[in-house]
Amino acid sequence: MKQSRECVIEEKQLLQLQRNFLKYESLFAHYPGMMYLLDHNGIITEINDFSEKLSRHSNVQIKNKHYKQFLSNSEYDKVHHYFNDTLLGNVTHFQTIFLSPDHEPFDVELINIPVFIEGVVEGVFTLVRDITNERAAAFALKDSKEKYRLIAEHTSELIRLVNVESEMVMYASPSHENVLGSPPAYYMGHSFYKDIHPDDRGLVDDLLRNINQEPAIVEFRRRHANGYWVILEDRATSIPSRIGDERMLVVVSRDITEKKHAERELQKTLKQLKDLKYALDESALVSVTDETGKITSVNAKFCEITEYSEDELLRNSHMILDSGYHPQSFFYEMNCKIQSGGVWKGEINNLTKNGHCFWVDTTIVPFIGENGAPYQYVYIRKDITDRKHAEELLHTSDKLSVIGELAAGVAHEIRNPLTSLKGFTQILKSRLNSENDQEFISIMLAELDRINMIVNEFMVLARPQAVTYEKTDIQELLQNVLTLIETQAILNNVQIYTRVIEHLPEITCSENQIKQVLINILKNAIEAMTDGGEIILSLYSFGDEIIIEVRDSGTGIPEHQLAHLGEPFYTTKKKGNGLGLMICRRIIQNHQGSFLIESKEGEGTVVSIKLPFQLSQDERR
Ligand code: ADP
Ligand code: MG
Repeated sequence: MKQSRECVIEEKQLLQLQRNFLKYESLFAHYPGMMYLLDHNGIITEINDFSEKLSRHSNVQIKNKHYKQFLSNSEYDKVHHYFNDTLLGNVTHFQTIFLSPDHEPFDVELINIPVFIEGVVEGVFTLVRDITNERAAAFALKDSKEKYRLIAEHTSELIRLVNVESEMVMYASPSHENVLGSPPAYYMGHSFYKDIHPDDRGLVDDLLRNINQEPAIVEFRRRHANGYWVILEDRATSIPSRIGDERMLVVVSRDITEKKHAERELQKTLKQLKDLKYALDESALVSVTDETGKITSVNAKFCEITEYSEDELLRNSHMILDSGYHPQSFFYEMNCKIQSGGVWKGEINNLTKNGHCFWVDTTIVPFIGENGAPYQYVYIRKDITDRKHAEELLHTSDKLSVIGELAAGVAHEIRNPLTSLKGFTQILKSRLNSENDQEFISIMLAELDRINMIVNEFMVLARPQAVTYEKTDIQELLQNVLTLIETQAILNNVQIYTRVIEHLPEITCSENQIKQVLINILKNAIEAMTDGGEIILSLYSFGDEIIIEVRDSGTGIPEHQLAHLGEPFYTTKKKGNGLGLMICRRIIQNHQGSFLIESKEGEGTVVSIKLPFQLSQDERR
């Protein structure tokens, strides 16, 4: 009985033992890592299947061998120390390096667990985990941290970490010292606003406020330790991660002071250039040609003076303005000079689109390309027509006054012998009886009268006199003018017909001035008929006015020129001075009369003058 009871107990214990063994087996089989059992000499007595995979050794070769087969000599001492500690009953946990069969190292983490049997350590369970990847990741992290540290510490840009809520600087890169003159510590733990220009605070507010949007860029000034302002360009980026529970902002600033100064200088230079161009455009005719002389640009003043539109000028040559005044050699020399890179200066006579002359003081500046040859020419011209005319006028009026005085003197000298000639001819007339002789003598006397009259007129016109208004017989005045102008008319093959109403009243006028008007108008009429023609001069009265009309059959005046008539110096003649009509207009105005020119191109011109019989006293000038 007793024996059977013991048998039952033994059987139960055996069953329990068997179950424990199976549990141990199952752990060994399914543990997803390397696991082996060492005896107290360090010999591997049991090893699980997974170990082959991890250790890369075959289990058959490993089993019953010392664990040091996994280790290099240098690691062995360390591991052996932990092994001994475990034999003393302690669980040990450490990292070491295993070697594969071909001596390739790999990182492992070991846990040694003592195997107690009835209170005595009988061996050691070792669990092994491959940590190669984990170590690589940890190393990579350390490496990237190091890289960022290097970047932050060695970049010339200023890098700051700013706490969004407190606006406090949590980190400032060492570059602060270089750019702002103070070490990072001067900024860390202080407000981001420290040393910001008071006027720029608003900008920085915007920067901090808009961090949730795209990276913001702001320019503002921060004070350098030496007191001057450094212009910074700040980029702020909100970083998604927080440090603790604080939201951070990365602000990267670049010193753009020099760039800004350069920009300002550039702006200043550009403005100066613009102002210069404006001044030039206001005062001068500017045009540019390419290297072949084709016009590539013109300014408004150029178009205004030449009367051509920009379109008509572009791609054309400046020869479009040639007046024929200068000989070919003039332009040849000019071209030689500028084509060899020299600046040419001179005065050029040009013609407008509508055919009137103008003078320009011209400077041509060649722009030299890299190959040493001009690639464009800039023409700067100043309209000097008025000056030229004034010079010419001074010249001619000088000449005229000298000639006038001479002529007046000569005329005076002629008058005396003329008087004796006339006297003696009259005596001869009374002495000679033959009819033929009488006729000759009459002709001689008439001719002498004519000479006398011309000489008298000449003396009156040549000598400038004070203007005096007197009652004048207009018919007689007209006759005197005709006497003067006749020779020129005949030379030009021009016939002058007069239509005069008899018994016209006398008018109050300056005889010399009205003569001057009529001479100017008749001269213009004759000059308009280069191949001859006729002038009809009518004189009549209407109401209380005298009307003088000069009608020619000359070239006429094109419509676009009519508006310019009477402007000083407006002339279409090579040797004209453009003063005749202006003087006429002024004189007639002073006589309270009116002056009208009607003309048709190719048919002729009619100039009508109206003069009151009587001048009202006050308006007489
Ligand atoms: P100038 O005779 O010196 O040119 P004027 O003032 O006398 O100056 O005349 C100005 C311009 O008016 C002349 O150049 C000419 O073109 C035009 N003109 C004046 N009179 C006539 C005319 N009878 N027929 C045609 N054109 C004329
Ligand atoms: Mg004239």
